[in-house]
Amino acid sequence: MSSLSSNPAALWFPAYVALGSNLDQPAAQIERGFSALASLAHCRLIARSRLYRTRPLGPQDQPEFINAAAGLLTTLAPRELLVELKRLERELGRAQPVVRWGPRVIDLDLLVHADAQISEPDLTVPHRGLPERNFVLYPLRDIAPELLVPGHGRVSRLAARVGGAGLAPLADAPGVP
Ligand code: ADP
Ligand code: MG
Repeated sequence: MSSLSSNPAALWFPAYVALGSNLDQPAAQIERGFSALASLAHCRLIARSRLYRTRPLGPQDQPEFINAAAGLLTTLAPRELLVELKRLERELGRAQPVVRWGPRVIDLDLLVHADAQISEPDLTVPHRGLPERNFVLYPLRDIAPELLVPGHGRVSRLAARVGGAGLAPLADAPGVP
């Protein structure tokens, strides 16, 4: 495995990733997402949340989402990790039929990367939707309730503030303790 010049000391950072899918057996897609994260170079998958069913809000014919969160240790910098997540999204989506204007097979978002605070056109860390989205915060609370999200505070407090309306954990989700 080659070392990355941006982190020659191989310092391991905690990072958290949101997984979402609402197409083609979403729960299975999330499982594929966890597997892909587990085999990512320069990363170790150390925690996985339950899977949550997210009731579709809005149009009745909109497929429901399954959401989850993963905890990693990584030697990658935030932008390097984003590049890998985008590559995985393409790889995981390639096996699926392309549906024009269709929903996403898999969405992998970088939520938090150690103490990084980044605000650039193509990369915002912590993820800009994190403080308001219960389908992000509830899975994240499963694996990191005490996590202090830079600029926003503790995950457990953020989750309590938004509430769990429309969310239901899958009872038989793999990974439930
Ligand atoms: P969304 O996740 O909002 O449904 P996309 O997955 O298509 O939409 O992402 C759109 C863009 O968001 C990506 O091209 C990426 O550059 C940008 N982006 C900014 N910050 C992040 C982040 N923390 N994690 C993932 N993508 C991000
Ligand atoms: Mg995304």
